[in-house]
Amino acid sequence: MSAAHQMLRTARRTGRTLEVTVLEAGQFTSYSACGIPYLVSGEVDELDDLVARTPEQHRAAGIDLRTGQRVTRLDLDARVAEVEGGDDVAFDQVVVATGACPRMPQWTRLPDGAPVGGVRPASTLEDARAWAQELAPGERVVVAGGGYIGVEMVEAAVRRGLQVTLVTRSRVLSTFAPEVGAEVARGMREVGVEVVEHAAVTDLEVEDGRVAAVRLRERSVPTDHVVVALGVVPATDLLAHTDLLSERGTLRPDETGRVAPGVWAAGDCCEVRTRDGAWTYAPLGTHANKAGRALGDQVAGGDLTFPGVLGTAITRFAVGEVHLEVARTGILDHQVAAPVDPVTVVTRGTTASGYMPEAAPITIRVSADRVSRRLLSVEVAGGPGAGKRVDAAAAVLWLRGSVDDLAWMDLAYAPPVATAWEVLQIAARRVAELIDQPG
Ligand SMILES: Cc1cc2nc3c(=O)[nH]c(=O)nc-3n(C[C@H](O)[C@H](O)[C@H](O)COP(=O)(O)OP(=O)(O)OC[C@H]3O[C@@H](n4cnc5c(N)ncnc54)[C@H](O)[C@@H]3O)c2cc1C
Repeated sequence: MSAAHQMLRTARRTGRTLEVTVLEAGQFTSYSACGIPYLVSGEVDELDDLVARTPEQHRAAGIDLRTGQRVTRLDLDARVAEVEGGDDVAFDQVVVATGACPRMPQWTRLPDGAPVGGVRPASTLEDARAWAQELAPGERVVVAGGGYIGVEMVEAAVRRGLQVTLVTRSRVLSTFAPEVGAEVARGMREVGVEVVEHAAVTDLEVEDGRVAAVRLRERSVPTDHVVVALGVVPATDLLAHTDLLSERGTLRPDETGRVAPGVWAAGDCCEVRTRDGAWTYAPLGTHANKAGRALGDQVAGGDLTFPGVLGTAITRFAVGEVHLEVARTGILDHQVAAPVDPVTVVTRGTTASGYMPEAAPITIRVSADRVSRRLLSVEVAGGPGAGKRVDAAAAVLWLRGSVDDLAWMDLAYAPPVATAWEVLQIAARRVAELIDQPG
């Protein structure tokens, strides 16, 4: 919908005439999947609060929006979209913005293919509604998957008063540095969550079509519900017959959003380029919105481009006394290739001056290249106000700055919100000192 609206905005400027048709398989448009955990937890009252714009509002803006229309195949020679149970829709140009589907292993289904009762992802508003209705205090839930959606659904379930077990194949938040993931695992245990790392759900025990337990390799965990948060796969079946898909099944648009002549794509069905030019799969709403807008502008004759990503991400685990924000930006050390030589420091401090009641612990990890001094990555874990600190580091990375830029740039300070030497800058300064050490 970002692309569709931008097309109309730019067309008004460039004087182009565009007929914009959107075919949407579901009934909702422009909704915040990101808000699902907070609807489930009860922090957000109404499902409608997550809908930024309804189909009627899009239509009123001049978009021919058709809901309940699933495109099964795009015929790029005949220039038609084939719609399940409906008529083909002709196009001159086509935008693929089909997003991604949750990874659902075989064990989520009964032998007849129907979903096992009590087992579903947290992917759509329908899932959100079902979880909000079904999760009752005192019941047991297993969350399968320790990525950010798993973490947020653990938070939601604990807030609703359930007994929660998190099962994850590697460690909690494995795309973050171990120090950061460990803080979240510790916070979860503190509020009574059973965290089972380095284990995978291999099967379910099912009674009368409903889940009764999950099986791990060495034991079973009795449960009433299973949240499946095992990552996503790009929803690109409609182009499976073409040579446009990568081995991962993604599309790889250029910075204008173009995949092939007259074929455009953005969002979770695509890989994105890092600022250094490497392809990466980073299915996030923040990228989808920007890439969609740039693409919409290009389709209507504009020149906006999507400039790539740094790998910036943030999430929160907050229950009762535990409030942890974790965030990261940049290339992980293990992804860095020679000749880059990362020098890394982990520093602990407080989010505010130690004498202020707001002061909460914060851990910051900064990494920079020994030779060029270029900042490589920054990760943060800490109390209220800790997470968004990563944005200052993202700005330095975006402008290809050095660890010295981060150490000495002019950041805001007042006792309730920071320390005189901001922890982020203390960590950066220590990295610089390490680099400068003789030998
Ligand atoms: C629980 C959860 C929390 C999240 N939290 C965050 C967060 O905090 N920050 C962040 O940046 N991102 C977050 N995300 C990710 C973010 O929601 C996605 O990256 C974003 O929605 C992707 O936008 P999109 O337009 O590519 O795909 P979607 O929003 O998935 O939209 C794709 C649309 O295409 C429709 N569709 C699919 N196939 C077809 C077809 N064949 N024919 C017709 N229509 C079709 C779908 O019904 C859907 O409406 C979260 C996601 C989830 C599930």
